[in-house]
Amino acid sequence: MTGRLTNWAGNITYDAARIHRPGSVEQLQKLVAKSDGIGALGTRHSFNEIADRPGGDLVSLEDLPGQAELDSARRTVTVGAGVRYGELSRWLHGEGYALHNLGSLPHISVAGACATATHGSGTANGNLATAVSGLELVTADGEIVALSREKDGDGFAGAVVGLGALGIVTRVTLDVVPTFDVRQYVYENLPWARLEDHFEEIMSAAYSVSLFTGWSGPRIDQVWVKQRVDEPGPWEAAPRWLDATAAPADRHPLPGLSAVNCTAQMGVPGPWYDRLPHFRLDFTPSSGEELQSEYLLPRRHAISALRALDQVRDTVAPVLQVSEIRAVAADDLWMSSSYGEDVVAFHFTWKKDWPAVRRVLAVVEEALEPFEARPHWGKLFVMSPQRVRSLYERLPDFQRLLTDYDPTGKFRNAFVDEHLFGEA
Ligand SMILES: Cc1cc2nc3c(=O)[nH]c(=O)nc-3n(C[C@H](O)[C@H](O)[C@H](O)COP(=O)(O)OP(=O)(O)OC[C@H]3O[C@@H](n4cnc5c(N)ncnc54)[C@H](O)[C@@H]3O)c2cc1C
Repeated sequence: MTGRLTNWAGNITYDAARIHRPGSVEQLQKLVAKSDGIGALGTRHSFNEIADRPGGDLVSLEDLPGQAELDSARRTVTVGAGVRYGELSRWLHGEGYALHNLGSLPHISVAGACATATHGSGTANGNLATAVSGLELVTADGEIVALSREKDGDGFAGAVVGLGALGIVTRVTLDVVPTFDVRQYVYENLPWARLEDHFEEIMSAAYSVSLFTGWSGPRIDQVWVKQRVDEPGPWEAAPRWLDATAAPADRHPLPGLSAVNCTAQMGVPGPWYDRLPHFRLDFTPSSGEELQSEYLLPRRHAISALRALDQVRDTVAPVLQVSEIRAVAADDLWMSSSYGEDVVAFHFTWKKDWPAVRRVLAVVEEALEPFEARPHWGKLFVMSPQRVRSLYERLPDFQRLLTDYDPTGKFRNAFVDEHLFGEA
């Protein structure tokens, strides 16, 4: 099959010569073995060229059969890599289990999300890749390799956030926890001064907390608080909280958009999979007409970084739809944007105007420069590849891992060559 396939946002047209949908792992193995340049496509939600293989082969795993297998004794589920979180979550809940966290939307594939260190929020919640305890992948010679956290230790930590460059992941094993319900509350107009004085308290007030701002004034427009029903924390639903007021009805994070696309709020309890994402599976997430960027930096710099961004607010606001601030717990995954330290994540949903966005990104990145801000692997950034490389202390190990697995570089594309190896 050939065609001008685009990513979800429509800002990237894949330049692969061929797009394949193998119906079996054996077909996939043959494809990989005979290709010189090949990569996997997830659900195409990344905003940059990380998934493309110009002139080569792209593989979608959508047609691979993949029955989910629950192992209650080990508390794991093993799934086909192409499965979307939304579908997996509903099934898992029916079996009495949950994942520890989800991103803002349930539409993305498990393998694609983990490959770029996709995350949700929560001071104690690692990103989605931290739930991965096993991987099966087709490597460069077409063989299947099974890796596990238990057996492969540090090397496994290198393979999980693989940026699509290690091989084609066919099965993923994820840790699960007993299912739980969540109540979601939205507070409006949190004054900036209160945020600065109470940042840690706010971010850790509940299981998952997200702050939304348009950077148009000294306030956080909305605070989304996701409280586990079975974990009554210090946080209590009150009409006012730190001078913010409880929203009188469900809200969309983007001003003026209907909340019909969003998961239920107003404290109505519901299953984790229908509260932890902001957007419902059956609806278009976010605005649909947008570009996105995100920077993750050590949480000890959060207040300084907030102030630095506030300084460039007049440049950011005109190009912005909305910004989201989240917390992610530290992990040991070599190429993870939260490797080694608890982080705060500054996300930007931009208007769909790349020339304007590119100019603002340079300003945002300069503002965040002192704080070791790592760009999200699946979103847009303009930082030099050299700077990106300097932010990952395990990069030399990851380079060795890629070279061991894939000596001829058939899974490497321009994005990986440039950002990981410094090659044009
Ligand atoms: C509306 C929207 C909301 C978003 N919200 C969030 C959010 O809340 N948090 C967050 O962190 N990010 C978020 N993102 C970014 C998104 O989660 C990442 O870009 C993610 O990687 C997308 O997954 P995908 O399945 O679409 O992968 P793709 O974009 O298709 O691919 C991403 C990478 O994964 C690799 N890959 C995919 N499948 C495989 C496989 N089987 N084997 C090996 N490699 C594979 C690809 O080769 C590529 O390198 C959002 C994006 C959108 C569009």
